[in-house]
Amino acid sequence: MRQKIVAGNWKMNLDINRGKILLSEILDSDINKDTLTIIAPPAIHLNSFSQMLSHTNIALAAQNCHQHDSGAYTGEISAGMLKSVGVDYVILGHSERREYFMEDSLSLSFKVINVIKHGLRPIYCCGETLTQRQEGEHFRTISNQIEHGLFQLNEMELLNCIIAYEPVWAIGTGETASPQQAQEIHSFIRKTIAKQYGDMVADNISILYGGSVKPANAKELFTCPDIDGGLIGGAALNAESFAAIGNSF
Ligand code: PEP
Repeated sequence: MRQKIVAGNWKMNLDINRGKILLSEILDSDINKDTLTIIAPPAIHLNSFSQMLSHTNIALAAQNCHQHDSGAYTGEISAGMLKSVGVDYVILGHSERREYFMEDSLSLSFKVINVIKHGLRPIYCCGETLTQRQEGEHFRTISNQIEHGLFQLNEMELLNCIIAYEPVWAIGTGETASPQQAQEIHSFIRKTIAKQYGDMVADNISILYGGSVKPANAKELFTCPDIDGGLIGGAALNAESFAAIGNSF
């Protein structure tokens, strides 16, 4: 079922004390209770945040996980472990993970499957680099990322996914895709899904936009028919900005 969603990706920011202060400020804010709000803090905060969020309507996401359930994978965390501390969502395939940790859509497809197997929902990221856009490769890049990462799923499994379109050239740069550019890609993603799974599935998937979303541009982006909300980086580190974005629907 398509939902209005605002998800904050804190990346590798804030120690536990500063993280708890920000989370308390978000809980005290006037953020719209009809919008699904998701917070993705550093993994080490998930357990204590889960307790802080237990009687609230804010959900918790991890920023990554491993594709196996357990074993000799030093430094990694499994989907089952995330589930056991109350996590509901896992961001997979963020462009920073693709760039710095060599993740590709095929390897991500195993993580997607494993996350769903554990009853968690993937937030699967896709998006083109500036060079790919300048060379007219953006549609092909995105359809490849969607097909290789997600098309192994059956209909019900795909309906459990949230997709985030994040043009790499707009992440953390202050550069935002125009609402027209973002809408064009969101509609393309929906058509790509419709070709494989039909209109019912395509119409019911939530597709978020990410890339320098802030209170000043959120409303215009969220008004686009195929944009169901945002994956927010920098602006999620300030409770007032994050709440203002959550109130922009
Ligand atoms: C992100 O990290 O997913 C992101 C969109 O970052 P920012 O909002 O800072 O561009």
